[in-house]
Amino acid sequence: MADRRNYIFTHHLRERFVQRSHKRFRHLRSCKKDSCELCRNLVMEIKEILEKRKPIDKEIARRLDAAVECRAYLNNSRLMQWYYEKYGFDRRFEFLVHEDICFVVISDSGKKIVVTCVSSKNYTPALPALRPKFSGIKKRREEEVLKALDIEPATKVG
Ligand SMILES: [Zn+2]
Repeated sequence: MADRRNYIFTHHLRERFVQRSHKRFRHLRSCKKDSCELCRNLVMEIKEILEKRKPIDKEIARRLDAAVECRAYLNNSRLMQWYYEKYGFDRRFEFLVHEDICFVVISDSGKKIVVTCVSSKNYTPALPALRPKFSGIKKRREEEVLKALDIEPATKVG
């Protein structure tokens, strides 16, 4: 077990963590409707759960301490390009895997910040590079890849 007490949690991480810990929240990621009542209710439910941060933080901390670093993520250029563009090219990343969850950690002037968590199951080291012929296809395939990697930037939570 590692001691990661000094790691800082973001609100986005907490939302994602809650979203991942109950199956019924899966609807939020699959639903594409703009004004869906179920989505609205689920988002409210997550907000309510997060009103008591302590139990969530405790559970995140427990799993974070038990997680092991998976450096293979760093070799996935496709994945890393996405993360560098989102969080900055000078960032250092840690990918810490515990069972079905992978915590994404960035270093910020000496501080370790857990920015989000993604599904560790969907990670595919041999993800083929995209060689699109048409830009329309490129965009769609990129969306497919991000979805497969479970790092879809669009979120209805928060
Ligand atoms: Zn919905």
